Amino acid sequence: MTKIDPWQNALKQLADAAKILKLDAGIHEMLANPKKILTVSLPIKMDDGRIKVFTGYRSQHNDFRGPHKGGIRYHPDVSIEEVKALSMWMTWKCAIVDVPFGGGKGGIICDPKRLSAGEKERLTRRYAYAISEIIGPGKDVPAPDVYTTGKEMAQIMDVYSVMHGQTEPAVITGKPIAAGGSLARNVATGLGVAYCIREGAKKVGLNLKGAKVVIQGYGNAGTYVAEYVEKMGAKIIGVSDTKGSIINPKGMDAKKVLEFKTKHGSVVGYPGSKKVSTEELLTTPCDVLVPAALENQITASIARNIKCKILAEAANGPTTPEADDIIFNKKIMVIPDILANSGGVCISYLEWVQNLQRYYWTFDEVAGKMEHHIVRGFNDTYALSKKHNVDMRKASMVLAVGRVLEAFEARGLWP
Ligand code: NAD
Repeated sequence: MTKIDPWQNALKQLADAAKILKLDAGIHEMLANPKKILTVSLPIKMDDGRIKVFTGYRSQHNDFRGPHKGGIRYHPDVSIEEVKALSMWMTWKCAIVDVPFGGGKGGIICDPKRLSAGEKERLTRRYAYAISEIIGPGKDVPAPDVYTTGKEMAQIMDVYSVMHGQTEPAVITGKPIAAGGSLARNVATGLGVAYCIREGAKKVGLNLKGAKVVIQGYGNAGTYVAEYVEKMGAKIIGVSDTKGSIINPKGMDAKKVLEFKTKHGSVVGYPGSKKVSTEELLTTPCDVLVPAALENQITASIARNIKCKILAEAANGPTTPEADDIIFNKKIMVIPDILANSGGVCISYLEWVQNLQRYYWTFDEVAGKMEHHIVRGFNDTYALSKKHNVDMRKASMVLAVGRVLEAFEARGLWP
């Protein structure tokens, strides 16, 4: 499969929304360009004494609605195009769930699996130093992304705090609780997806009690989707991981499947289940299908055969553009990734607020506030999809671009 250029993809999505919104050409051009992109050269002393130079980026797409927000990714495939695209998507994601942030994204070209703990820490701290002039609680607030965790976030907070002579947890989110992190962070994405499924079920007239749910990928996102939709009354009938897919039409206990996976290294072999192919898993008759693993899983050929009422995208980019049209024509509701998996950015916002006010909320308080943002984002997106007769993906973009535009119009252009 040819790799889709993320930046061209992001520009196309913006152009589609611009057409529906009849956006002025100059404003369209402004939104099609990140405000600032910083490229940094990072010399690191490796464990064997050599100096190796890495390249890092931070792209700040737009801040009309608030400080830039977005993760930091460590991966060999990090590129300026990818970082630009991801920073633009963050602008839209924050706008959809109405958290007062703009978009940003950062990354370092490296293979984190080939770095020792010490090398990774030196790289993280050098990167934090290199981007320190453009980040800050009111400027740009990074977070974890692929191959970065709370550990790196705490190190970045430490560098920034040392440089500014005061402890400043609000410079970054996704921190461990001990360093100012928020409760409910670990469940955020899965819980947010579950809230979206609940709202989607109301719209398509699906009773979640006994509804059949299939989840591809049983990692951080997938396991919490399973746990929370099960609490809402649904039945998990199929799950998968890298080792294979399993189905049991009678339903499987979400927590017991996780315990089995933890003990045996895979969901495959779970008592009472049958091993099936990926295609069989994705096309098995169900009410809700949740891709929670990789991108480009729902291809046109899978889309022709899927039999669900709701497709809730926990993973980023799981559906190909050709599949989108097929799914729309089949009248399946797609809850797009940019909305469905926004629980993380909602909790990031709530972590930042707690850091700024130096007062911390309980798990239920944080989850309740997140629910408010996601449910509103869902309902606003749904209303626009009906108004313009477009799928929820296009509607979410129209909502996002419209909100950014409103902020621009309120603030005006200076000079
Ligand atoms: P993870 O690594 O914890 O879990 C991924 C799961 O997918 C694992 O169980 C793995 O075995 C499985 N998997 C990998 N390849 C597979 C394949 N070919 N077939 C079936 N299963 C496969 O990752 P995660 O954090 O749960 O992220 C999953 C997706 O959700 C990604 O697309 C990620 O970008 C997206 N997402 C996650 C978060 C989050 O907070 N965790 C937030 C936003 C988006």
